Amino acid sequence: MEERLPQHVIDLHRQLNQYSYEYYVEDNPSVPDSEYDRLMNGLLALEKQHPEWITPDSPTQRVGGNPLKAFTKVTHEIPMLSLGDVFSEEELLDFDRRVRQAVGDDVTYVCELKIDGLAISLTYEKGNFVLGATRGNGTVGEDITHNLKTVRSLPLVLPEPIDIEVRGEAYMPKKSFDKLNEERKKNEEPLFANPRNAAAGSLRQLDPKISAKRRLSVFLYSAGRFNRDRIKTHYDLLESIRALGLPVNPESRRCRTMEEVFDYIKEYTEKRDALPYGIDGIVVKVDDMAQQQQLGNTVKSPRWMIAYKFPAEEVVSTLEAIEVSV
Ligand code: NAD
Repeated sequence: MEERLPQHVIDLHRQLNQYSYEYYVEDNPSVPDSEYDRLMNGLLALEKQHPEWITPDSPTQRVGGNPLKAFTKVTHEIPMLSLGDVFSEEELLDFDRRVRQAVGDDVTYVCELKIDGLAISLTYEKGNFVLGATRGNGTVGEDITHNLKTVRSLPLVLPEPIDIEVRGEAYMPKKSFDKLNEERKKNEEPLFANPRNAAAGSLRQLDPKISAKRRLSVFLYSAGRFNRDRIKTHYDLLESIRALGLPVNPESRRCRTMEEVFDYIKEYTEKRDALPYGIDGIVVKVDDMAQQQQLGNTVKSPRWMIAYKFPAEEVVSTLEAIEVSV
């Protein structure tokens, strides 16, 4: 694929692939997310100018990283996609414009906190928790059932004997993260760079005792296989997941105008530090499922939702000052 690409694009591919490997496979990034995002946005801009440079194996076309060999692989029946992201209000207004162009002006959004953890999928058969998996590369993830069973907020049995696959984010609460790093410091072990890497490192352990000790939590926000007969909106889907006793973040809100979306962003930008878990942005989703279908997906992400990312908090010097590890 690479022969017809200019050298600087090939270099960008290699650099981004290397960073992705460190981040998704080793849970041990060598650069802050802002640097990764800067390079990724640079590549996206180049590909916009030169669509002929978009190859199927470009980092812009891929979701996450490949599964670790040590784990049994799980194929996702319905691919687990990533999310497009924007970094400014103008870009968010562009998203809104694209949505309205496609589905008309009658649009309601649901705003949610973008939990800074890792995407997981949970399968229940006849109401019993049978399989937990990471997103991996979107098509193939890792079987982490043994570790997810140690997450206390996850029910192992649902109140109804149903077959469903629900999706969400596993995360490490701030308190658990601070405690873990304090202990590691005391034991002169390398520290985790952030709660996201700590959560990923803790769930991708072969020994569930280690995951159990790390006190992880989960919020669910979507579904793969789910009986949607009577569910017409994303908000109702969240309510149905919650009604099954599964943990759903309580801060989600329906917004009927972009002003309301911006108010939500402002509110949680201010509340962010006080939350007991890390968030790295706000996800804005089209509520109506018929409109979601009309909008469809790109290869990498749905066109009906977008992540507004908060400005970077991490600074290179912090990351360089501490070592990171699984
Ligand atoms: P992402 O983290 O930008 O967003 C997609 C993910 O958001 C979903 O897969 C889901 O797990 C999560 N999410 C959290 N709350 C959600 C909600 N309410 N609704 C829907 N999804 C929700 O995308 P990504 O592809 O997982 O990763 C890209 C991120 O990883 C970027 O921030 C990038 O900077 C970082 N990254 C960093 C490095 C590095 O070297 N530092 C390398 C690769 C990627």
